[in-house]
Amino acid sequence: MRFEDLHLQPALLRAVQAEGYLAPTPIQAKAIPHLLAGRDLVGLAQTGTGKTAAFALPVLQRLGEVAQGPRRKIRCLVLTPTRELAAQVGQSFSTYGRHTGLRATVIFGGVGQSAQVSALRQGVDVLVATPGRLLDLMNQKLVPLEAVEILVLDEADRMLDMGFINDVRKVIARLPQKRQTLLFSATMPDDIQKLVDSILIDPVQVAVNPVSSTVDRVEQSVYFVEKNDKRSLLIDLARDPSISRALVFTRTKHGANRVAESLDKAGVVAEAIHGNKSQGARERALSNFRGGSTRFLVATDIAARGIDIEGITHVINYDLPNVPESYVHRIGRTARAGASGIALSFCDADERDYLAAIERLTRRKVEVVREHGYASKVAPPPAEPAIKQPAPHRPSEPKGNRELRARPHRKPVPSNPSRREQTSPSRQAREQGQQKPLWKKPSNPHPTGRPAAGSDSPRQHPDRQMPSPKRAHPGRGSPQTQKTQEPGRQRWPHEPRHAPRHGG
Ligand code: AMP
Repeated sequence: MRFEDLHLQPALLRAVQAEGYLAPTPIQAKAIPHLLAGRDLVGLAQTGTGKTAAFALPVLQRLGEVAQGPRRKIRCLVLTPTRELAAQVGQSFSTYGRHTGLRATVIFGGVGQSAQVSALRQGVDVLVATPGRLLDLMNQKLVPLEAVEILVLDEADRMLDMGFINDVRKVIARLPQKRQTLLFSATMPDDIQKLVDSILIDPVQVAVNPVSSTVDRVEQSVYFVEKNDKRSLLIDLARDPSISRALVFTRTKHGANRVAESLDKAGVVAEAIHGNKSQGARERALSNFRGGSTRFLVATDIAARGIDIEGITHVINYDLPNVPESYVHRIGRTARAGASGIALSFCDADERDYLAAIERLTRRKVEVVREHGYASKVAPPPAEPAIKQPAPHRPSEPKGNRELRARPHRKPVPSNPSRREQTSPSRQAREQGQQKPLWKKPSNPHPTGRPAAGSDSPRQHPDRQMPSPKRAHPGRGSPQTQKTQEPGRQRWPHEPRHAPRHGG
């Protein structure tokens, strides 16, 4: 498919051509026709799929179709979880809309409000905002939203994780009922499904790049290491020149600072990025990382959300996330736009359950690096399975990864290329085309994958006894079926009565 086939205006086609986009990504090809037809839409997609253009292009086209009054009014509101993502989405609207005459602005917290207020006063067509600052300005009666025709909730599951969902609901309650609503989310937890059910009307659902496919593209391994040895292990790994741009995740802001400092002391150029840093410092750190002068960027999940940087060779989970979906978001940073990447995780004795939850979510075992200089004695890796057959060499495997695994740290590792494969019968099975599951599926009493209402039985890995992680249910809940209508909510005025329903 070509962009021309999507019936986009010449002004938008010129902009995407200038960006060098040759063809729509799958989410763009699937979503744009529905959005141009005025449908509400649920997009199951994460960053890196081209989802921003998937909503920005049709929004710009629809806004451009209706003649503007003498004064610009906010006609599209986009809510995003973080200021970085808000800035990127705002930038995308400006880029794609540069020949349309439409204007976008961004508002977020952590900076003074006066520049944002004066941008609003000059008049904008599209407002991209984080929920907290938006509510703040709404309460000061500085953001007129009565002309909003299109609402976009971007990364809705992230807004939920970050505790913004009530703010989001408060904002929505003050929007006109008659509007087109779009919701994008990488996962569909129950609370997001409820939001979909209550604020979207007969939405079409478009799903691309489900959680598992990013996971499949990323070469993943885990180091069992004691907490106090994580820093030394990281410094050791950082000596590998094949790690040319690494994003390191820590659980806390202080942790991010400490890790960046210790890398710096060891001669590895590193910077930290997190919510306590000023906007200027965050932007500087990002641009140094983008430009290559900073090799290691150490971030918390929230700060890293929405960072779109090409060429990240490695994601390093210095701390494993306690929400398994965050692991998928994290490692997706090294597999942008279809590329493959490498993710290394450190797992200490307290993080075993997190690893198990991640393996359950992704339905695959993370390969264990057994031989390294800081192998944990407190939490040694689980015993290797008995089967030991060298797997065929994979010519497509990134060079850096092979070097990394075989490189001696403190203890020399035999340079046997089959060593790594020996640890992974699951990989052998995949390479040999066997579709065998990595472990036996538990006999599931809930055929939908979801416990019946009122049930409290956790879904467990058959081999482990631990609480069930928060499960994602992409594709469940069938938002294609007619949903309960918000009281008083009406159909978009230009929406055809018999709009196309499913997938095109
Ligand atoms: P997003 O998922 O919106 O964060 O986009 C991820 C990256 O894909 C951004 O760098 C976009 O500029 C890029 N992108 C979006 N659409 C296309 C396309 N059709 N072809 C190539 N790259 C694209």
